[in-house]
Amino acid sequence: MSKSVAKKIQAIRGMNDLLPSESPRWQFFEGIVRQLMQRYGFAEIRTPIVEQTALFARSIGEVTDIVEKEMYTFEDRNGDSLTLRPEGTASCVRAAMENGLLYNQTQRLWYQGPMFRHERPQKGRYRQFHQVGIEAYGFEGPDIDAEVILLSARLWKELGLMEHVTLELNSLGSSEARAAYRDKLVAYFEQHRDVLDEDAKRRLTSNPLRILDSKNPAMAEMLDGAPRLLDNLDEPSQAHFEQLKAMLDAAGIAYVINPRLVRGLDYYSRTVFEWTTTALGSQGTVCAGGRYDGLVEQLGGKPTPGVGFAMGVERLILLLETLDLIPDEAGSDVYLLAMDDTATVAAITLAEQLRSELPWLRLQLHCGGGSFKSRMKKADKSGAAYALLLGEDEIAEHTVTLKALRDDQAQQRVPQAMLAHTLSERLPNTP
Ligand code: ATP
Ligand code: MG
Repeated sequence: MSKSVAKKIQAIRGMNDLLPSESPRWQFFEGIVRQLMQRYGFAEIRTPIVEQTALFARSIGEVTDIVEKEMYTFEDRNGDSLTLRPEGTASCVRAAMENGLLYNQTQRLWYQGPMFRHERPQKGRYRQFHQVGIEAYGFEGPDIDAEVILLSARLWKELGLMEHVTLELNSLGSSEARAAYRDKLVAYFEQHRDVLDEDAKRRLTSNPLRILDSKNPAMAEMLDGAPRLLDNLDEPSQAHFEQLKAMLDAAGIAYVINPRLVRGLDYYSRTVFEWTTTALGSQGTVCAGGRYDGLVEQLGGKPTPGVGFAMGVERLILLLETLDLIPDEAGSDVYLLAMDDTATVAAITLAEQLRSELPWLRLQLHCGGGSFKSRMKKADKSGAAYALLLGEDEIAEHTVTLKALRDDQAQQRVPQAMLAHTLSERLPNTP
């Protein structure tokens, strides 16, 4: 006989299981999100997790962190280069174009699901993570920018997060204005070459705007003195930005202008924003987005303005947990048990009858036999507020014993015909 023990296979680093103890928190969050999307008139779209590599390279940009070093790219059996999606916007645009959703019409879409980036795993940063995002197509004016931001703001309000997040706002202007600004910026950086770190030197030719985003304290002073994109906006972008700010002011949404906010994806133009928090250490951005008026055309479609955001679900749930903002929820309302095996059939029948009568009831039926004592232990462990007990006597007199598990109300025999009524009265979450 071989003595070797088979080595256990483990999950991929940075990719997490969502355990039964955690999933109620995700469901809580997702439930609020789904409702909110309906309230604002956004429709859900679901796209494949795998796309052609070229889709991301062409949209996010060849010299961004994501495309340069974070994508999960592989060859499939036909030799095609495929990539696990690192974000949702490119896929949404592709799907909208491919299915004619952009033809002479506007769209307001939302999505949710896993994204993949090969980053160094740490708190709030994973290799498989989840985003909820929205995308609006075909709207040119700042009203939809405001609407997108207001939707996110309402989500923070509903979750109790509003006083823990800050809206940072900037405008990147048109691509022409940005190109002119880029030259100015490179000239400025050239003058301060001695303070540039390795990363910045590398980006100087490829993506100089991203240098503005650096968190390196050694460059902070130099970056503070850099020419500001906001002072170099083209006239229409300037007007767009002023109108957006006025709309946010009117809606009572506070923001700070961050002239160094540039975002790590190349497709943005005009409005960019981030919602940040100080409660999560360096992984402080919980939602990020902006306008991408050139992207549809860049991917081969008719010029179509776009605007949207993506938020990191893990970070938001972490934040809600840190601030203790997720309501506790028991797993079940009632645990129904036969006192011994002779009552099993009666218990199954009663459980199904109750589920028909009370569709909102969360009822767990005892399965797996065992002594009376072990059945009661399982009832207690289920988290249910009440146990329903069925034995010989109850069956004979068409009753059931109702026993409170969380407080010391006296236990009581209830006629089975009255049970639905009694439970409706006793349970706090009755609809
Ligand atoms: P960061 O600066 O934190 O790397 P990013 O600019 O790469 O973020 P986006 O691509 O704009 O992020 O994605 C939007 C949101 O998705 C982020 O604000 C964040 O909340 C979340 N997010 C991004 N990357 C990860 C990751 N690896 N793990 C968990 N959440 C992430
Ligand atoms: Mg990143």
